[in-house]
Amino acid sequence: MTEKVGTTGLVLSEKLLWEKSRPGRCGMSIPKRDVEESPLDDSLTGEGPELPELSEIDVIRHYTRLSTWNYGVDTGTYPLGSCTMKYNPKTNERQAALPGFAGAHPLLPTEKAQGALEIMHTLEQAFAEITGLDAVTLQPAAGAHGEMTGMLVIHAYHKKQGRQRTKVLIPDTAHGTNPASVALCGYEPIPVVSDENGILSVESVAAVMDEDVAGIMVTNPNTLGLYEENLKQIAALIHAKGGLVYGDGANLNAVMGIVQMGKVGIDVMHLNLHKTFSTPHGGGGPGSGPVCVTRELEPYLPVPRVTKTGDLFDLDWNRPDSIGKLGAFYGHFGVMLRAYAYLRMMGAAGLKKTSQLAVLNANYVKEQLRDTLHLAYDRPCMHECIFSDKNQKPHHITTMDMAKRLIDHGYHPPTVYFPLVVEGAIMFEPTESESKDELDQYIAAFKAVAQEATENPDALHQAPKATVVRRLDETTAARKPCLAG
Ligand SMILES: *Cc1c(COP(=O)(O)O)cnc(C)c1O
Repeated sequence: MTEKVGTTGLVLSEKLLWEKSRPGRCGMSIPKRDVEESPLDDSLTGEGPELPELSEIDVIRHYTRLSTWNYGVDTGTYPLGSCTMKYNPKTNERQAALPGFAGAHPLLPTEKAQGALEIMHTLEQAFAEITGLDAVTLQPAAGAHGEMTGMLVIHAYHKKQGRQRTKVLIPDTAHGTNPASVALCGYEPIPVVSDENGILSVESVAAVMDEDVAGIMVTNPNTLGLYEENLKQIAALIHAKGGLVYGDGANLNAVMGIVQMGKVGIDVMHLNLHKTFSTPHGGGGPGSGPVCVTRELEPYLPVPRVTKTGDLFDLDWNRPDSIGKLGAFYGHFGVMLRAYAYLRMMGAAGLKKTSQLAVLNANYVKEQLRDTLHLAYDRPCMHECIFSDKNQKPHHITTMDMAKRLIDHGYHPPTVYFPLVVEGAIMFEPTESESKDELDQYIAAFKAVAQEATENPDALHQAPKATVVRRLDETTAARKPCLAG
């Protein structure tokens, strides 16, 4: 074992509040009554909710202990591929918490919300510039919600052309949300096989493209961490048959400030602000998935649109071709503020540098581990690199065994078994946040695990050993979740 540099939070044990409850324990005391007792309203005299009975310090210790269990970007390297678990500068949290923003009611009349509207308008323009597209909506609440929004826009576009189409092409490397969003909008997802280099070929798209295809949904760089080099020709092919090109922009962290996807032929694209633009990710939300479109598709964007006339900002609801409204109010404003602060802080040059460093770090990890793990595609990668457990299989060691053993080293494992096209996939996305020192420590831990795979495979089969909870029965946990503890 290498020196432990991760966190040890997972070795602690903590009972549920219900298990700690003791009859009569209470977290507060109220002054003795100095008035006559009087009966409560009839509807309130029944049985109250069954809540645990605890003292103040019981509650404080419980939650403080739980907080130390958390493995986050602020405690250690978190190279979860496809998720962009990067460091989010704390100043952006402060800007989002400014009382003028945090306290603004979403139903304020627009003349009293000029500052908020200006920020939204400026942010839309920034995303239009970054993506090379013309118009942006900030309404969708997450990446998958953005996908659905974009697909509804594509649906509305074809309807307006007078002929609805039935299918959407989805590469086999796609994130699972892609075919789901397509199906939600009434289209049939048609898989497209990627080639031996892990990218789409013009031929494989041409083979399935016809005039019933509404468009293609492409992630670029794709979920193998590879740049779709043929995208421009593929887009031309789709456009020639009247289809549209949807870009899943969840991997923008590799190309922002470098490639404008609108110039490569993309018509609609969502971004994940909780991946790329400084909102912490992984805690279950809130997120934000702005959708950027070409001028031609702007009429279909959700209402209301933020407009600017002279110096005055307003909300425009009168958009007859709009797909409508996607949720309450105008999207997750706090997430927009973090993105705005981040963009202002970084500037165009900073964004470009971020992408360059994210790509450099992923290639560094790839080169350092190439003799340890089997490299799925031996070519330069973008922001993430993908290995498999092929080298360890002869020792009966799987990706899962290695991931579990990394926890004993105090580290969060990389993404495992995704993307599906690589058997036993191990996907690292180090992001730009990690220094060479941190990466070297993580790489050393992984090498130690791989060495154990040959010398002492049993240690890996039994991992994790240092945690309170050992190997879980994940199938039963998923099929029969026990939510009460
Ligand atoms: C994360 C991700 C999504 C989905 O985004 P959510 O915000 O989690 O809904 C879609 N596509 C790709 C490639 C992703 O990495």
